Amino acid sequence: MATDHTDIGQSRDVYPLLPLRGLLVYPSMVLHFDVGRPRSVRALEEAMVEDNVIVLASQEDGQIDEPRTSDLYRVGTLARVKQMLKLPNGTIRVLVEGLSRAEILAFVTEDEFFSVRVHIHHELDEVQVTPELQAMMRSVSQQFEQYVKLSRKLDQETYASVVDIDHPGRFADAVASHLPLKVREKQDILESFSIHERLERLLQILSDEREVLELERKIHQRVRKQMEKTQKEYYLREQMKAIQRELGDKEGRTAEIEELREKLAKKKLPAAVYDKVDKEISRLERIPTASAEGTVARTYIDWVLALPWTEKARTQADIARAERILNEEHFGLEKVKERILEFIAVQALTEKQSGPIICLAGPPGVGKTSLARSIAKSLKRPFVRVSLGGVRDDAEIRGHRRTYIGAMPGRIIQGMRQAEVVNPVFLLDEIDKMASDFRGDPAAAMLEILDPEQNGTFSDHYIEIPYDLSNVLFVTTANNVYQIPAPLRDRMEVIQLSGYTELEKLHIARDHLLPRQRERHALKGDKMRLGDDVLMELIRHYTREAGVRQLDRTIATVCRKVARMIAAGESKRVVVTSAILQSFLGPHRYEYGEIEETDQVGVVAGLAWTELGGDMLTVEVSVIPGSGKVVLTGHLGDVMKESAQTALSYVRSRAKALHIPVDFHEKVDLHIHVPEGAIPKDGPSAGITMATAIASALTNCKVRRDVAMTGEITLRGRVLPIGGLKEKSLAAHRAGIRTIVIPKGNVKDLEDVPSVVREQVEFRPVSHMDEVLAIALVDNPLEAPANGLDHNAWLADLSESGSYGGGEAHQ
Ligand code: ADP
Repeated sequence: MATDHTDIGQSRDVYPLLPLRGLLVYPSMVLHFDVGRPRSVRALEEAMVEDNVIVLASQEDGQIDEPRTSDLYRVGTLARVKQMLKLPNGTIRVLVEGLSRAEILAFVTEDEFFSVRVHIHHELDEVQVTPELQAMMRSVSQQFEQYVKLSRKLDQETYASVVDIDHPGRFADAVASHLPLKVREKQDILESFSIHERLERLLQILSDEREVLELERKIHQRVRKQMEKTQKEYYLREQMKAIQRELGDKEGRTAEIEELREKLAKKKLPAAVYDKVDKEISRLERIPTASAEGTVARTYIDWVLALPWTEKARTQADIARAERILNEEHFGLEKVKERILEFIAVQALTEKQSGPIICLAGPPGVGKTSLARSIAKSLKRPFVRVSLGGVRDDAEIRGHRRTYIGAMPGRIIQGMRQAEVVNPVFLLDEIDKMASDFRGDPAAAMLEILDPEQNGTFSDHYIEIPYDLSNVLFVTTANNVYQIPAPLRDRMEVIQLSGYTELEKLHIARDHLLPRQRERHALKGDKMRLGDDVLMELIRHYTREAGVRQLDRTIATVCRKVARMIAAGESKRVVVTSAILQSFLGPHRYEYGEIEETDQVGVVAGLAWTELGGDMLTVEVSVIPGSGKVVLTGHLGDVMKESAQTALSYVRSRAKALHIPVDFHEKVDLHIHVPEGAIPKDGPSAGITMATAIASALTNCKVRRDVAMTGEITLRGRVLPIGGLKEKSLAAHRAGIRTIVIPKGNVKDLEDVPSVVREQVEFRPVSHMDEVLAIALVDNPLEAPANGLDHNAWLADLSESGSYGGGEAHQ
């Protein structure tokens, strides 16, 4: 570094002055700056005239363009202009080198340019470095090193170049020149003529600066940590997305979440539901993809989104149309259709379910489901069906809480999802088959569902959000209305369907079942011919039911076989004859008319009502010599057993009139049997049948085989009314019975009996058992001793033959 300033100053002490703005030049520093102000340019020119030496003094306020003497600091730097370069914009770039500190004593000129008289503070090249100075220098250099490390503005090289300087004064100046100080502070150092003082100031400044830097660093770190965390998460997420994209993993959670949000945005939901789903989606977002919890959350969201919340079918109730649909789809059932049309009319007026719930009751296959479906069709509402048969757990109706693995909503909500609208026709099938046990009472849940007051906020354990069922039109079905829990039954309006006569079945088969099966088996047109006579054979000999389900299945079997023949190329057209029918279905499964072939002793045709419709029920009694035991066989229920005892008591009380030994009960055993044990038999209506069979067996009088009977008996032989007359008479008619003995109290029910049955069957109302015997037995034992029996002959006869009754024993 050139230090030839020692010779300066001796020659003169007035120099031109160049005011600096925001800048300060220390001795032995070389730097360049641009000069543009006219007075500064003049000062430069002046310096050029002499020896290129000039005084550089800083302005206290860098903003001032035209500084006056008072605006300048009184200590500046004597410097040599080493280079000048005129720039195209008229300014001059100068390179200067600081020489010494110069204290301004006076301003010589001020107008054109400043010139000043100065006192130059020479600094000796060789300064005696005292241990104290040495220590200070070391301190400064240490502090400076720290500072350089903390500061990102200075590099290690700068540090190295500075600490190399041995001269303590210049060392201090060099350090000061590298620090980002305000002009005021830099000036302070410039004004410190004593090296000692200068180093001390520097130490002070450095330690302050370091503290600030330290603080800055801490703040910076804290901010960065925060930033890093969010940034890291963002990065990771982006990375995950990229990985998923690379793997073609469309099922990835991100895609999944996006898809769910899209769905949520599209779906119209009540605010509460929206919030819940929104929350669940956010939760799902945070669950790792592989976790089971994710599946649970996802399934739940899917469920809620799949349910109809606001979607509504535009219903239309046009009574004429409804009537047409009902008639098109169902044969007969006039009264039922009438009731249904009234019901539809009310629905049309109210929109919401009001009044009682319809319950279509009757044996299987009589068209309950299909009627409900027609109701939906006439109202233009979607139809859903849920079977309640065998439901014994509350949770099947209301769902399981989500905490259970594999939890699902209950059947009601499942049905609603299937319906896709909030106002479907909802069939609750077999409501009488719900059971209740320790797991809860599904009937109670059902009560809530069917109650218009409560079902606006139906709560499913799984869905959790209350669900509005008030727009749903519920229809129920049952086989046996008496098995529906009473509080539920109270809410229902029962429409009873009883079963069909043969002729009705023929119509249904010809007009509904057969065309449908033809279509299903692609047997339209003349590919298959199935005449009425063959259909009738089918009905009589291959089915035995109240409804038409078995019939429908059997027709399907026939169609299948025909289709197979055609497909195999055996023939183009099949005319199903009786022989073909038998080759398809085997020999007749049921004999038409199950009535006995001959009149027999101790065998009486009774009639039973079961959930599957009416049925024939034969009662057999045989009398064996013994000690008065009564044996009952054939799976009889308690009520039926009691009724057997009553029947027996009646016969005992009438022993005299019947011309049988009064003490017969001490001498014989009675065996009462009701065959075909598959159907559990109970109820009091076989009372008169059993009494007749006992009387017949004891009197050895034959029973007319074409007479069937039903009625409850009292101890005194009165005949009390029974239920299910229509079904029973249909069964009797099916079986070929020509006379039915009925209690007088049931005469009013005869109007329900189809007219074909009434035409072909004679109904004989009775009020006392004696009348029954008169009708049923070939010879009335009440009038004359049967076969001329007297007490002893009776017993002798009995012991001889082994037994009476039971049909075959005694002729
Ligand atoms: P349920 O529900 O009473 O057990 P379905 O409604 O399932 O009986 O009826 C069984 C089949 O019989 C259905 O295919 C139905 O269309 C038909 N069916 C029943 N009754 C009639 C009828 N009166 N007219 C036409 N088809 C009928």
